[in-house]
Amino acid sequence: VELSNQIRLKTQHGDMLVRYIGFARDTAPSTSSSAREALIITATENPNSPALVRVQSSCVFGEVFHSTQCDCGEQTQAALEQVIRENGILIYTMEEGRGAGLRNKVESIFIEQSSGKNSKEAYRALGLPVDLRDYALASEAIKLVLGLNPKIILMTNNPDKVRKIEKAGIEIVAVKSALPKAVDKAALSELVYKRDELGYDIPKFIHTKVAHAHG
Ligand SMILES: [Zn+2]
Repeated sequence: VELSNQIRLKTQHGDMLVRYIGFARDTAPSTSSSAREALIITATENPNSPALVRVQSSCVFGEVFHSTQCDCGEQTQAALEQVIRENGILIYTMEEGRGAGLRNKVESIFIEQSSGKNSKEAYRALGLPVDLRDYALASEAIKLVLGLNPKIILMTNNPDKVRKIEKAGIEIVAVKSALPKAVDKAALSELVYKRDELGYDIPKFIHTKVAHAHG
């Protein structure tokens, strides 16, 4: 992997330390690695052990344009705030659309809007697996910060992420929910979709809230 020098970045959540990590084109462990570039964000040089870790995939619509159709923007801010407060690690991977890339993300949303398909069906129509992420780069980044035999508390509601990061040799001592405290009504249906179609671990009350929103 390629690693940059460390910089300091001032944010509304406090100061953070930032490093770039990337796979050079010809050194990625497999061609399926969806993320080739990521940022490693920590509050200090020595994160707590076990470290609170969030692996966040980029979502330009939610994070930059504040789209209300997904919860990514709120999630990123909440994760950043917690990681800085609890001296943990945020790995921000550049992989739009669950690793499918920006073009496929836009094309899949077009299919959703023009045919009424959900995102899983739209990915299938594009000939893509519903989630291409393998977390290889994120796992390398965690090992780099925490050294051999890293122990982490992973912030996620995605069991697939837990499995793949564990498989990469990282001990997950606990899993913590990464749901933001409040989400827009439109983003609720995205969460219900993630739960029902992608197998995310999301509490039932969210579903009830949707039922109320429509009732
Ligand atoms: Zn999003």
